Amino acid sequence: MPTIFKRIIDKEIPAQIVHEDELCVAFHDVAPQAPTHVLVIPKKELVNLAAASGEDQALLGHMLLIAKNVAEQLGLTNGYRTVINCGRDGGQSVDHLHIHILGGRALHWPPG
Ligand code: AMP
Repeated sequence: MPTIFKRIIDKEIPAQIVHEDELCVAFHDVAPQAPTHVLVIPKKELVNLAAASGEDQALLGHMLLIAKNVAEQLGLTNGYRTVINCGRDGGQSVDHLHIHILGGRALHWPPG
């Protein structure tokens, strides 16, 4: 059973895509927790960060740089937060690795 993010990668369900390349896709979160809330996901089906290995080093670096570029593209000049929820205790709800980019308001710390 493909995850909802795999179905977005395969264009089976729509998403508001802000960036796409051979390795990853970035799109607006359907339930934004900040004025800007975008997800960066790899096209490779990695369940989460814990499932990544040494062979994913370049992919993970690429995703972080894309997160930075997307934040710039969306005008988050006052700053932003990147978050990777991993596993049950991390609050992960979709089993496909994703980096949240949250911005457009001052964010609280620490998270709950
Ligand atoms: P997490 O809780 O870290 O696993 O984050 C999953 C995120 O995916 C949540 O912020 C959801 O709002 C978001 N999400 C779930 N389904 C979709 C969808 N179809 N399009 C965009 N974002 C989604």
